[in-house]
Amino acid sequence: MQSFSGIAASPGIAMGRLRIIDRRRTVVSEYPISSESVAHETARLAQAIADTRIELESLKSRLAETSGEDSLFFIETHLMILADERLVIETSEIIRTGMINAEGALRRTLHRYRETFARIDDPYLRERISDVETVIERVLRSMTGETEEPLPQDEGQLIIAAHDISPADMLQINRNNVLAIITEIGGRTSHAAILARALDLPAVMGVDDITDLLLDGAAVIVDGLSGTVIIDPDQETFQSSLRRKQHYEYIEYELLKTVSLPAITLDGHSILLQGNVEIPEEGVSVLGHGGSGVGLYRTEMLFMNRAFMPDEEEQLAMYRLMQLAIAPHPLTIRTLDAGGDKLLEGIDHTEELNPALGVRAIRLSLSMSAEFKKQLRAILRVSADGPVRIMFPMISGMEEVRTAKALLEEAKRELIASGTPFDNAIQVGVMIEIPAAVTVADLLAREVDFFSVGTNDLIQYTLAIDRSNEQLSHMYQPLHPAVLRSLRRIVRAAHEAGIHACLCGEMAGDPLYLPVLLGLGFDELSMGAGSILRVKQILRRCTLERAIRIAEGCFAFSTAVEVDMYLKSQITMDVAESID
Ligand code: PEP
Ligand code: MG
Repeated sequence: MQSFSGIAASPGIAMGRLRIIDRRRTVVSEYPISSESVAHETARLAQAIADTRIELESLKSRLAETSGEDSLFFIETHLMILADERLVIETSEIIRTGMINAEGALRRTLHRYRETFARIDDPYLRERISDVETVIERVLRSMTGETEEPLPQDEGQLIIAAHDISPADMLQINRNNVLAIITEIGGRTSHAAILARALDLPAVMGVDDITDLLLDGAAVIVDGLSGTVIIDPDQETFQSSLRRKQHYEYIEYELLKTVSLPAITLDGHSILLQGNVEIPEEGVSVLGHGGSGVGLYRTEMLFMNRAFMPDEEEQLAMYRLMQLAIAPHPLTIRTLDAGGDKLLEGIDHTEELNPALGVRAIRLSLSMSAEFKKQLRAILRVSADGPVRIMFPMISGMEEVRTAKALLEEAKRELIASGTPFDNAIQVGVMIEIPAAVTVADLLAREVDFFSVGTNDLIQYTLAIDRSNEQLSHMYQPLHPAVLRSLRRIVRAAHEAGIHACLCGEMAGDPLYLPVLLGLGFDELSMGAGSILRVKQILRRCTLERAIRIAEGCFAFSTAVEVDMYLKSQITMDVAESID
């Protein structure tokens, strides 16, 4: 028996036979060319890119039949990389100045990209090099005529081990016979890991040299909960893994039963359970976990770790990918929430003594209205293709909403002037995360179409507790009477004005708080995809009437600890009653 440790990239446990897939690089050689051959090599490059596009388009239509439209954004991403003119321009330049063949030049371009990506701090963006590599490997294969080893389709009960697995490979995996995957590279935020989670395929990644050390056919256990791979397990290990697997699957099975069930209480009251996302892959996962749309798309990711701000077209392309991932459900796009601790390299942030109280979120956007309007136009443009809502972060009062809305109107006029379609009735909401906004919630409610409470910040600003200060974490109390009173006031103000009250802070994803939030009257809760089923399970076991009583009961207590104890006692009582 041998045991290997890696990164627990996708939960679940699987037992099967090992099948090693060799997807390593296409072998290409670099050789000098004469100046007469430069045009020929440049044409070969262009032809290979065109052929690869055709290949990807055909893969896209094949996958559309088997995997559904919503998983196709990987191919879209690859098509976007392929369409990037810099790839051709930079490689042609290397052919011309280096006087080398197209394959060699393309390898050098890839090498440059690798160096650039390696300098990126953000792990998600850094790992996007794997998409660029996959695309360039495809173009290289097209030039060399090499074909890819096909994935096994019907060999039964396999665990696939590979140096790396591309998202396109992941989509082609036959779930009937592939039980889990192991890779040598990649981490929790790699595309393959995100897809593995979306496909419920256990995965352990970052296991060094496993494809060199092992042989096809070995018996293997993949434990995607602990990140372990066990080869040729003894009887005792096998039995204990089997018990762990059964226990995990039982709990998941119970939860998954609720995926397509409505988010509705026992007495017929329904609320929207949505997902919080930053990247399109999470959109797919939200739907896979029964979410009915995206309640918070944090767009900051697109602006970080880059020297220049993304232009309107790039933003539009990204929003389209997200829309594609969650179609036909609604997408709530939050405008840039940068500043504070999320500094952008593309902007000259001035040093601040209190960044959390500084030029952050809407304040930053309003201080650079030309950039802000690019984002507004991109959001408006994507609203032409499906239901989209727009949301402004960290609103403190009426002036900010009015100024932001005036810029939105300007952006609309610009689009009308250029004949660009958009949804003129797009809903506009504000995030309520500053105590001042709570106090003037009645005024704000008349100005917008919905509220979304950002409890992460609302708790921080209400209690004056830095949300990232570990020393004070015991004082960061979602059930503090001041927070609960704020939530009650926000919902009342929203409902008096006839608009929806949504909540998209971390509080929404904690099943303990569900009865309180439901009882207070929230219409929509938005959370990380992984929390949706657990929250839905509690929702479906509650009545609105009982939740209202529980929520009202909270206001009889004067400290967060008392409210917490009260809440737990109520839930224990409910469980005891349901067993009786
Ligand atoms: C919040 O503050 O609750 C919120 C959802 O926004 P963020 O966590 O991105 O600040
Ligand atoms: Mg916030």
